[in-house]
Amino acid sequence: METTFDIDEQKLLHFLASIKVNDACGGHTDFWEWHNETEALKTNLTKIGQIAIQPGEKQWEAPYWGQDAKIRFDCYPYYGCDLYQCQKCHTVFFYYVELGGHGPQKRYRVVRKVLIDLESLTPKHQIIIDYKGMDYIMYKNPDLTYGLLISKTIGVGIDVYHQLSKEEQERYLKDGIESLNDRLKDMDVNYTNYKVTSWR
Ligand SMILES: [Zn+2]
Repeated sequence: METTFDIDEQKLLHFLASIKVNDACGGHTDFWEWHNETEALKTNLTKIGQIAIQPGEKQWEAPYWGQDAKIRFDCYPYYGCDLYQCQKCHTVFFYYVELGGHGPQKRYRVVRKVLIDLESLTPKHQIIIDYKGMDYIMYKNPDLTYGLLISKTIGVGIDVYHQLSKEEQERYLKDGIESLNDRLKDMDVNYTNYKVTSWR
C-alpha cells in the first residue's frame, strides 16, 4: 500500500516551493482548469496525499471554472481533494470525484501556485507561505500580516526580519517576490535597520 499524507496549507505551500517542475509534459495546460481524467494523465500520476482542511462558511463562494479561478483551500472542492504528482514532470494536481449531475466524474486540476489565494489563509500560528533556498522566507502571521526573512553571515549567522507594509503586501500579492527585490537588497545591506536575531 502506498503511504500518503494529510496536507494542510503550510505543508502544501512548502512542498510547492521545494519541487522543480520540468517541461516534459508541456505544463499539462488542459488541466489548468478542472478537467475529467484521461488515460494518458492517469498512467503518470502518483498519489502523494490528501488535503485536510476545514471547509469555510463561504465554501461555495470561489469561482469554479476557468484557468484563472483562484484556489481557496477552504472552498469547494479544494479542502477535500487528493493530491497527485506527475512522475514525468513533477506537476502537482488536485483530484476529487464530482458526484452531482450525470454520475461520478473524476476531475483533476493543476495546482498553480500563483492562483493560491494567500489572502484567504488565516493561520493559527506563523506559517511559511514561500521560500527559496537560503535566499528568503515569506511568512504569514496570525494577525494576517506578512513577514520577510533573510539569513546572512557576518562572522556569526543572523536572521533579518521585516514585516511588510500594507503597500508592500499589496504589491507582493499582485506581482510576487520580484516586487520586493529592492527590499531584499536593503535588508541585506542595511540589516542593522531591521529586527536581527543571531543564530547563537
Ligand atoms: Zn507531467
